[in-house]
Formats: sequence, structure tokens, C-alpha cells
Amino acid sequence: MSQYLSEPLPRHRTVAVDVGGVTVGGDAPVVVQSMTNTDTADVDSTVAQVAALHRAGSEIVRITVDRDESAAAVPKIRERLERLGLSVPLVGDFHYIGHKLLADHPACAEALAKYRINPGNVGFREKRDRQFTDIVEMAIRHDKPVRIGVNWGSLDQELLTRLMDENHAKGAPLTAREVTREAIVQSALLSANLAEDVGLPRSRIILSAKVSQVQDLIAVYTELARRSDHALHLGLTEAGMGSKGIVASSAAMGILLQQGIGDTIRVSLTPEPGGDRTREVLVAQELLQTMGFRQFLPVVAACPGCGRTTSTVFQELARAIEDDLRERMPVWREKYPGVEELKVAVMGCIVNGPGESKHADIGISLPGTGESPAAPVFIEGRKAATLRGPDIAAEFRDMLAEYIER
Ligand code: SF4
Repeated sequence: MSQYLSEPLPRHRTVAVDVGGVTVGGDAPVVVQSMTNTDTADVDSTVAQVAALHRAGSEIVRITVDRDESAAAVPKIRERLERLGLSVPLVGDFHYIGHKLLADHPACAEALAKYRINPGNVGFREKRDRQFTDIVEMAIRHDKPVRIGVNWGSLDQELLTRLMDENHAKGAPLTAREVTREAIVQSALLSANLAEDVGLPRSRIILSAKVSQVQDLIAVYTELARRSDHALHLGLTEAGMGSKGIVASSAAMGILLQQGIGDTIRVSLTPEPGGDRTREVLVAQELLQTMGFRQFLPVVAACPGCGRTTSTVFQELARAIEDDLRERMPVWREKYPGVEELKVAVMGCIVNGPGESKHADIGISLPGTGESPAAPVFIEGRKAATLRGPDIAAEFRDMLAEYIER
């Protein structure tokens, strides 16, 4: 037996769900998904953002369906995407009146690949079960899966109150936080049971239980995985802006994925004003790629730079290569299967440059301080050229493209 214990645990077994041609759960790779922030009734903006998210790598895109105008726009959005050649599955995000919108807009119900239901706001008391059942019946009629998406911020208050009272009656063995976690897990599982009782098979149900704290997310999903085999959608809600959101999402989901938990992920980042929505897709891809679960893009290994670095050329080159690869990957992936396995090295000096470059498929070692102004390029471990002069970066990018095309 290996003395190293760093391998991920075997994947938690879940029932596979087909979401408009994309498999979530079972043996399928962990799926990257995202959500628009446009007004869905604004067809042009929504089509543009769905297309941008999908081209960036989002395999499923969720859109808000909050009123008649947005429900009426959904089939138009679907049609426009098809005309662009984009078959990305669209998920409708419903709250409060999903049962009504789906009933009043059958074309919307048909155009969507999945319905997201929040059991915390589908109604109260007897209305809750009836309206929840209405959505499930709609899913059965249209042959669609649902995601039962519990959210910490809109948790079923009746269930929470009942569990709090029960805990109190037993002498409060659990903290309020523990009871809340239990309410989240129960809300998801009870709703899934109800959906199955209505006739929706488990192969049409995905569960999520989003919270905003890393330790709560790990606890809740670990428990969900222990108690069920439903496909699981991971995501930390209200993760925050910038590096805080990225670190929190990566820490929480990284730990769960390492335990084999999670069939699809969304990294929810609060965008900077005017910021690029596709960033959350890139972060999700990078999380899966750096953990070794999936390979989306060639790896560009670049040294961090130090006092031996003579200029910023190598950082700029590394960035330009990453940008080139990301932009050209949709075409290259189709033309050159396996291109995402490529390893490129961009190094700042002779100390580690040639060694790292030889380990890559193609690598360049730029000259550091006191070194001769020459940049050896290695292809598959052998020195293939030595670049000099002001156009080193452009020449290396051409060599990389030629190498891929060859
Ligand atoms: Fe510094 Fe050279 Fe190492 Fe890059 S390869 S970090 S420039 S010593």
C-alpha cells in the first residue's frame, strides 16, 4: 500500500441525471456551470451572456425566470442560441411562483433543460406541498430534471422552527448552528422524497444545499452524501468579491471534491462593477484542473520571477500564452483532440529554466541577469531553437501555434 495518502477518495456514488445532454453524477466528470445576471426578459443581453459563459467553458447555464416577461423570453433565448450553434442546456431558476410560470408558459417549460426549485420559498404550509408538487408534475410532463436547491438564506422556516423546538425539548444537545445545518439537509432530503413520491425518478433529481460559510458547506454536503445517492450540485453562496470569494469557494469545494463529493460545481463570485461574469467559469475550471479532476486547458508553467529576472517579458509572455490558448481552445479542441494535455513552460532564467522547459512539451527559458541575451526553446525535451532580439515573445508564440498544429 502506498505511504502517500494524498489521493482523492473514490467518488461518492450518485444516480446520473441527464441535463439537456450533459450528464451530472454517476461516473460523469464534474460539470462546470454558471448563472447569468441579466434580466432574462432582455433577450439580447441574456443571449450574449449565456454565449459568453458557454464559450468560456460553462457546460450548463442557469437563468432567472421570475415573471411572465422572462418566462416568455426563454423560448426566444433558446432559439437564438440554437441559431448561433450553441446547444448549452438552460436551467430556469424559479422562486415563489415557479408553479404558475411553468403552467402559464408551456413553451418556456419545454425550452428549459432543468427547473431549479427552492423548497424554502415555494409556498407555506399546505400550499407549499401543492405548489412544489405542481412543479414536479410539470417536470414529469415535460420529461425534465429538477434541482432541489435549498439555500441558507431562504430556508424553510417551519421546518427550522420544528427542529429547534424538538432540540429544545430534549435539553438542547445541539447548538443552533447544528440544528440549522440539520434543517438544510432535511429540507433537501424531504423535498426529494416528496418529488419521488409524486413520480419523479431519482435519475431526474439533483440536490444542492448552499450556505455562505466554508465549514457549514463541508458539514452539510458531507451529511447529504452520507444519507443519499442523489447527484449533488456544489456551490458556496454569497462567497464574496475578488480573492475572498475565490479562496472561500476553492477551500470549501476543494475539500469536498477531495472526499469524492460533488457532481457539478458553480463558483459564485460577486462581480466587480463592470467586471467579467466569465471569471467564475475560469475559476471553476482552474479548481478542477489544479486538483487533477479535469483538464480544460494546456498547463502553462511559469516561474514566479525573482531578483534574477531582467524584465517583465516572461510574465507578459506567460500571460499572453494563457490568453491565446484560452481563446483558441474551442477550435483547437475540435481540431486537435488531446491538445488540452499540452504542457508549456515559460521560465525567467537559467537556474530552473532549461530543466523545467525540458519537462514540458514546449518551453522557453528567457535570459536572467548577467546571462547572454538568448532564449533557448525546448520541444519534447530537445533544444529546438535559440531566440534573440526584441521579438522573442512573438516568435515563441508562433512556435507554439506551429507545434500544436503540427
Ligand atoms: Fe528566479 Fe530563475 Fe527561478 Fe525564475 S527560474 S524564479 S527567474 S531563479
